[in-house]
Amino acid sequence: MKITFIGAAHQVTGSRTLVEWNPGRFFLVDCGMEQGENDYEMTEMPVASSQIEYVFLTHAHIDHSGMLPVLVREGFHGKIYATAETTNLCAIMLADSAQIQETDAAYETKKNLRTGKGEVLPLYTTEDAANTMKLFIPCEYDQMIMVDEGLSIRFSDAGHLLGSSFIQFFLRENGSTRKLVCSGDVGNLDQPIIRNPSPLVDTDYLMIESTYGTRKHDQIRKPIPILVEVLRKTFNRGGTVLIPSFAVGRTQELLYFFREIKQNALLPEFQNFPVYVDSPLANEATAIFLQCSTKCLDDETLKVMKEGANPIWFDGLYTTVSSDESKALNTNTEPKVIIASGGMCEGGRIRHHLKHNLWNDKNTVMFAGYQAVGTLGRIIHDGAKRVKLFGEEIDVNAEICMLQGISGHADRDGLLSWITSTENKPEYVFVNHGDEDSCSGFANLVKEQFGITAMAPFSGSEFDLLKGEWIRITEPVFRKKEAKAVPVSSGKKDQTPYKELMKAVKDLNDYAESLKNVSNGELRKMTDKIRELINQD
Ligand SMILES: [Zn+2]
Repeated sequence: MKITFIGAAHQVTGSRTLVEWNPGRFFLVDCGMEQGENDYEMTEMPVASSQIEYVFLTHAHIDHSGMLPVLVREGFHGKIYATAETTNLCAIMLADSAQIQETDAAYETKKNLRTGKGEVLPLYTTEDAANTMKLFIPCEYDQMIMVDEGLSIRFSDAGHLLGSSFIQFFLRENGSTRKLVCSGDVGNLDQPIIRNPSPLVDTDYLMIESTYGTRKHDQIRKPIPILVEVLRKTFNRGGTVLIPSFAVGRTQELLYFFREIKQNALLPEFQNFPVYVDSPLANEATAIFLQCSTKCLDDETLKVMKEGANPIWFDGLYTTVSSDESKALNTNTEPKVIIASGGMCEGGRIRHHLKHNLWNDKNTVMFAGYQAVGTLGRIIHDGAKRVKLFGEEIDVNAEICMLQGISGHADRDGLLSWITSTENKPEYVFVNHGDEDSCSGFANLVKEQFGITAMAPFSGSEFDLLKGEWIRITEPVFRKKEAKAVPVSSGKKDQTPYKELMKAVKDLNDYAESLKNVSNGELRKMTDKIRELINQD
């Protein structure tokens, strides 16, 4: 019985963990896409996708679900267990992700053809995404589910996103049972719309996220008064408030806030301000939120509904869909709010709106979520004076701010108190889903505060769950810094093997140059490997 840490090891995206619950029988917890820049290489999966029998999905965010279509295309034909709401959200999110992959690949291909290069294939297609959805088994919270011989699970509400869960596994091998909980992303207390995280359940092993493992949220600043101030200031200048927002979850929270502002007349001088949600995906997600089980909703939201109001709908809300309508927003000069995806400005309609609005100092760009290092969102947030969009240099004159007081993640104290929310604390804690400082720092905190053995393993590390000991502790493998990885099809083999060899040598040289900051031990190991390869003492 073995757990292998594959993705989100010392980084925040690309969640993926492999468990061998009986010899030769494998399942995955999450299968997410890496986003932004990552410092470390993710190890190759040690088994073929076709050998994996199940995937258990904590929630629908792409950094947890986004590589499922690749897994399916590579031969996975088992079942994907997730809550019903996660299943509904994945249907729209994976289709959207596939469409982005296809559009990007078509664009790259067009560019390549002009320079005699080959076709670029999408990472996956809408067909791959549709095939993936056929494998989903929608589940309910708090039900014990017998999945297979020696494998039972239970989803509990993680309070992070609609349908989000932490999963308790009961694993049995040769009469010995071990319990494992995978936290997925643990939500923040008092997020609008959804419930708070359920208490942690009894477990031997806990794998826990650490996005905010060493940081504390600002508890004093509440989002609605901040939002009102930003709107007032910008509208008084005659400007537009542009919000790059994650289509699923954050957009609906913003709609909840705008409904509160309007319902309670918190901005009376602009009571009828329009809000445009320029994201087909966000609008589909809003529909899923409106139809979700009331079991997922918190008391405040249920109260609003009981009073006859719609918690995320109000007068002045416009859901533009066509791209012509989207373009028309940029010629309309009325004070307004535009919410457009994507949240880190890496894709989606937000890029068009940024191009048309960033230069104008009447406007405000308000970020409403974490901006990963290397993304356009982070670059603007960090104070860039000029950015490149669609090949054009655009001055950044708009006011740039961040909506404080909202987070979908528990902070340091929230995570620590979640660990203590069960009577019997876990014996061993694996910390993942956090950048270098957060995951290592949080592992230390768990050790100091609770005396629990805790570790943040690097990708490729393996732990024997029966014996309670490490089988393999891997060293970090630093990633070569490069532009966004776009898979290029081999196309026609126009390169001779010799040219390919020369290219590999050049790549090796680039790789070696990227290792400047690696420890001397690592450098010696690498040197030995190269010497071994060329058989020279
Ligand atoms: Zn998440």
